[in-house]
Amino acid sequence: MSGTATQIAAKIADEPKVKLCALLLEDNRLDADLVLRALRRGGFDISSTLVQDEVSFTRALRPNPPEIVLADYNLPNWTGLDALNVLQREGFDIPVILVSGALGDVTAVECIKRGITDYVLKDGLARLPDVVRRALREKHERKLRHQVEQDLEKKMEELARSNADLEQFAYVASHDLQEPLRMVAAYTQLLAERYRGKLDADADKFIGYASEGALRMQVLIQDLLAFSRVGRNTAPSASVDCNSVMQEVLQTLASPIQESGAAVSADDLPSVWADRTQIVQLFQNLIGNAIKFRGTEPPAISVKSEKQDRQWRFTFRDNGIGIPAESLENIFVVFQRLHTRTEYPGNGIGLSICKKIVERSGGRIWVESQVGSGSAFKFTLPLKTADEHGRTKP
Ligand code: ADP
Repeated sequence: MSGTATQIAAKIADEPKVKLCALLLEDNRLDADLVLRALRRGGFDISSTLVQDEVSFTRALRPNPPEIVLADYNLPNWTGLDALNVLQREGFDIPVILVSGALGDVTAVECIKRGITDYVLKDGLARLPDVVRRALREKHERKLRHQVEQDLEKKMEELARSNADLEQFAYVASHDLQEPLRMVAAYTQLLAERYRGKLDADADKFIGYASEGALRMQVLIQDLLAFSRVGRNTAPSASVDCNSVMQEVLQTLASPIQESGAAVSADDLPSVWADRTQIVQLFQNLIGNAIKFRGTEPPAISVKSEKQDRQWRFTFRDNGIGIPAESLENIFVVFQRLHTRTEYPGNGIGLSICKKIVERSGGRIWVESQVGSGSAFKFTLPLKTADEHGRTKP
């Protein structure tokens, strides 16, 4: 033995042996002994079962399945590949290493394609321990990956379920609260009308607060209901021409546009595959906000779209008051506002509805902005053609 080989052998001898339970498929006992000796030399404390045919091979898999199968490629009535078929049929993920006297390149590639982990020639058994170690490591990694994927899938299912529960809760709460609240609002208003000036000044004030509060709560609940309705009872998607959506929104917002002196420009916009009512709501919320949160100059609003890979990217840009960096994400959360209602009217529901509409349509929404420099609200929508939906192109 050379100096280096002696050093390696001594090092392996010092290391704790790795326990290994192997199933050997081999008709030559001498060859089987050589395989076992190579593994022991390579640092394995090996326990093995020697089999030669399908019946004994299948029987040896239970109750304690081996960690590895070392199979001769060619046995009188059976091959290593047949062993692989048995493992796959029985649902075992056990690495199979072919140990063969000779194996041409073409056969070797074919075996690996079929699912054999690796192969070692009988005159190169010194490689075997490393090959086994790698196969066991890969199996361990496969198991971990599978576990992570399963955990992730479970978490996603839980998340989807809890989201659905929350949505159901928001819907039921906002829907069912409307009726009693209508009573409270109606009767506090009646109190205010009948008894104004008949009790003392404090009573007038308190009744005023109560009816104001009830009216505000009605608006909040209606907004919450509007939010939870997005995605419920959605109309089937169809091709929506965004130019006609733009025209409709400009008409709806004609008076705030005129009052503020806003200039709204839009590119030639594409058609998207969506629920038209929702796209109108999306455009209207974004343009309405661009007018509402204007700066000292009259609003200048531009709407652009560009094709990117498999999606459309829309940009609604304004020259308004802008948004501080720390609030760029918060503003999409239900009821999140950056100003008091006396500064700017609203309840903080518009952008959360926009987010829900975009995400339900398979896109993403975000904003780029700086205080004092305007904002650019951007969202994507998947580029779907009518063909993909089994209809003729409009
Ligand atoms: P609301 O308009 O009722 O406040 P939104 O959900 O539409 O509710 O918007 C949330 C917050 O995001 C607003 O209160 C405002 O602070 C900010 N915001 C939305 N759009 C703009 C905009 N174009 N420019 C500046 N700030 C905006």
